[in-house]
Amino acid sequence: MFSEVGKIVCVGRNYARHAAELGHAVPSEPLLFLKPPSALIPEGAPIRVPPDAGRVDFEGEIGLLIGGRCRHTPESRAWEQVAGVVALNDVTARAIQRRDHQWTRAKGFDTFCPVGLPVQAAGLDPEALSVSTRVNGQSRQQGEAADMIFPLRFLVSYISRFMTLLPGDLLATGTPEGVGRLRPGDAVEVSLSCGSSVSNPVEADKPLAPTY
Ligand code: MG
Repeated sequence: MFSEVGKIVCVGRNYARHAAELGHAVPSEPLLFLKPPSALIPEGAPIRVPPDAGRVDFEGEIGLLIGGRCRHTPESRAWEQVAGVVALNDVTARAIQRRDHQWTRAKGFDTFCPVGLPVQAAGLDPEALSVSTRVNGQSRQQGEAADMIFPLRFLVSYISRFMTLLPGDLLATGTPEGVGRLRPGDAVEVSLSCGSSVSNPVEADKPLAPTY
């Protein structure tokens, strides 16, 4: 699946209570950023915490796998262009995110984008989806798509106004309240009401021989 993934377009602060927990106002339009496809890992692969990164957080999210070409797609047609719904963890180096003026480094480390297997979007009601996150078996996040500031169909339409979405692109649609720190030895699982889930152990990153 990963060889077919293109860009990963992410939405920040899409739940009011999550924006509040980090001390931010609710945005008036979607706050977008990108994660590199090199951050992707599947079910079971370790999230590697860089030794000098400071606090690294989980962010359980509803991910959308784009199936069609979207340019200026109206909201009423947006869901037709979504092939699959995936559990996604927008792992974030929070200390670096606060230090940098943009989020490329904090969100872009290798292993910082675990995704589960897609569940077919056709037949699902996007407004009824929910996401939950567990760390070491303890419930940490519970979010409903109905509580999003910018709903899923709107996001596909909005992004397609200025950035053509292509088959294989992924959208990470924001995390609900309850984000928290991951430490080596933890196990984190993001699961969606539609059945997609992704579970990953957390390890300290080790220096490796460079690969080219
Ligand atoms: Mg996020």
